[in-house]
Amino acid sequence: MLIALLPGDGIGPEVIAQARSVLAALALPDLHFEEAPVGGAAYKALGVPLPEATLDLARRADAILFGAVGDPDCDALERHLRPEQAILGLRKHLNLFANLRPAKLFTDLANASALRPEVARAIDLVIVRELNGDVYFGEKGMRKTADGKREGYDVMSYNEDEVRRIARVGFETAMARSRKLCSVDKANVLETSQLWRDVVIETAREYPDVALSHMYVDNAAMQLVRNPGQFDVIVTGNLFGDILSDQASMCVGSIGLLPSASLDANQKGLYEPIHGSAPDIAGQGKANPLATILSAAMMLRYSLKLPEAADRIEAAVAAALASGARTADLGGSMTCEAMGEQVLVRLT
Ligand code: NAD
Repeated sequence: MLIALLPGDGIGPEVIAQARSVLAALALPDLHFEEAPVGGAAYKALGVPLPEATLDLARRADAILFGAVGDPDCDALERHLRPEQAILGLRKHLNLFANLRPAKLFTDLANASALRPEVARAIDLVIVRELNGDVYFGEKGMRKTADGKREGYDVMSYNEDEVRRIARVGFETAMARSRKLCSVDKANVLETSQLWRDVVIETAREYPDVALSHMYVDNAAMQLVRNPGQFDVIVTGNLFGDILSDQASMCVGSIGLLPSASLDANQKGLYEPIHGSAPDIAGQGKANPLATILSAAMMLRYSLKLPEAADRIEAAVAAALASGARTADLGGSMTCEAMGEQVLVRLT
C-alpha cells in the first residue's frame, strides 16, 4: 500500500516526520511512503502550490497524509498561487466530499478543555461534514437593490444525491461506533434543510440498526457545550459542519490534538491535523505532533482497513499523555520530536 506524504509548510514537515516514524515503527508489511512538495514549499520549488507530480502521487496513493500549508512569504501572491489553494485543489480533484472530525477528550487532559472537566470528560463524538456543496458552492455575487443599495448573496442548495451520499457516510460511521446518528439541519426555516431531512430519513431505511435523531443547528450548538456526551455521530451540511466542528474541537482542548479525514466515495482519503502551518512556532521544535499521529491512525482505520494498527497508535498516544508527556500547547516543554518519541516507546 502506498501512502503519499505531503508535509507542506511551517510545522507541516516537523509533525509529518513524527507521524512517519510512528507508522514505520508499526512494521506493517507492504506499507510504502512517497513524499512530494505541496503549498508554499511547492510554489518556491516549482512555481505552483499543487504541482502535477504531487497530484499524480495523490491519485496513485492508497491514502494521503497531509501536514499543513500556508506561508507568510506567499501572502501577496495571486490567489491561485497561494499555498492554501493546494488543499482546495486536492479536495476537488480527488472528489473528497466527506469530512470526518472526531473529538474525544483524553481523560488526562480534562483541564485543557474550555468546558468544566466533568462535562468535557464525556466528549467522544465524530462530526461528519459534507464538503463539496451547500452555500459555499452555490451562485454568489454582489448586486444592487432597486433603491441602489449594495447587496451580497450566496445561494444555498443541496440535491438529493449529494445528501444521500453524505448521509450514508454518517450511517456507516455510526454503524462502526454506537449506532447513534444525529442529523443536524435547520428544517424549520430552510427548504434545503427540509430536503436534507427527508433524504436522511429515506436513507435510514438502509440502516435499521442505527437510531436516528434530528436536531436544529442552533440547538446543536447549545447542546454541544451543555451536554456534549449525548452525541456520538453527527451528520450535517458544509456550513453547519464548518461551525460545529470548530466548536467541538475547542471543547476538547488544544488544536494540536485533533485529526481529520476527508474521504471520497470509496473511502480513499486525505488525512490531516485540523491545525494550519503555525508559522509563529515553525522550526522551533514546539509543535505538538499528536494531531498528525492521530490522523495517521484514522488513515489506517478508514482507508487502509487496519483497525488494530489504528488502535495501537491511539493507545500509545493515550499512554504518552497519561504519563505526563506535554508539548508547550498543553502546558509542558517537550519538543515535537520528544513527544513523537514518547508515543513510539509506548507502541505495543
Ligand atoms: P494555525 O492552526 O496554523 O495556528 C493557530 C495557533 O495554534 C498558533 O498560535 C499556532 O502556534 C498554534 N498551533 C497550531 N498547530 C499547533 C500544533 N500542532 N502544536 C502547537 N501549537 C499549534 O492557524 P493560523 O495561524 O490561522 O494559520 C497559519 C497558516 O496556516 C495560514 O497560512 C493558514 O492559511 C494556514 N492554514 C492551513 C490549514 C491547512 O493546511 N489545512 C488549515 C488552517 C490554516
